[in-house]
Amino acid sequence: MTAGVHSDVVLAPGSVALVGAGPGAADLLTLRAYACLQQADVVLHDLLVGPEVLALLPPHAQRISVGKAGGRHSWAQRDICALMVSEARAGRRVVRLKGGDPFVFGRGGEEMQALMAAGIAVQVVSGITAAVGAAASLGFPLTHRDHAHSCIFVTGHLQHDTLALNWGALAQPRQTVVIYMGMSGVETIARELQSAGLPAATPVAVVRYATRPEQQVWTATLAALPQLVAEKGLAPPSLLVIGTVVELLGASPVGNSR
Ligand code: SAH
Repeated sequence: MTAGVHSDVVLAPGSVALVGAGPGAADLLTLRAYACLQQADVVLHDLLVGPEVLALLPPHAQRISVGKAGGRHSWAQRDICALMVSEARAGRRVVRLKGGDPFVFGRGGEEMQALMAAGIAVQVVSGITAAVGAAASLGFPLTHRDHAHSCIFVTGHLQHDTLALNWGALAQPRQTVVIYMGMSGVETIARELQSAGLPAATPVAVVRYATRPEQQVWTATLAALPQLVAEKGLAPPSLLVIGTVVELLGASPVGNSR
């Protein structure tokens, strides 16, 4: 299905749209994402989707929070997929609203495959991923040619208490590394990157709630990162940005650092 700004129907009954909500600020949604939200009968959203975006949902849309938070009822991935399938089979227009971009560390790929396997029509609507939103908001160009020829996004999520990352590939000169879900692994990350050859003085930024009104940023050297995170009690949702582009942070574009 082609979903265009001018089409009346972007979200057909009985279908699902995996929609990227962007990093937080509501006006960073795409027009297509906005159109899907307006046509949704039911919206399954993550905790990462902020209040500004949820405020745009039409009153008729049923809202279901399927976020995973400590202490609260936690949705298993298979239950989320099963709910999308049953809602679509009931002829409803289903939006699965995910933080950032659905295909960047958000399990959107698994959800798309589950829907396709069930024979449900599914479309994917891109969103601005957190790294890109943070870079624009704070003024550090991810690939400024004086600093970086490449930019790499990795997940720092620990599996079985280990971080199975290719440290040598990450510890390259003239490269920006952005780590999603890395806050619980900062000690390992700082230690392994230094062992793999990244200088201890490499600048690092921690960006929390990028593009939201409560956005905050802290900077440190790679060597001092674990201490910063421990002392300030820094918590998710935060990105780690590693590389000399972080030196450009002070040059944040006026009026864009919200
Ligand atoms: N699909 C999302 C990422 C999901 S993984 C995207 O494209 O952005 C969840 C992680 O994303 C968080 O732990 C955090 O590292 C990062 N993240 C998402 N939104 C963020 C925000 N507004 N500010 C900082 N980090 C964010």
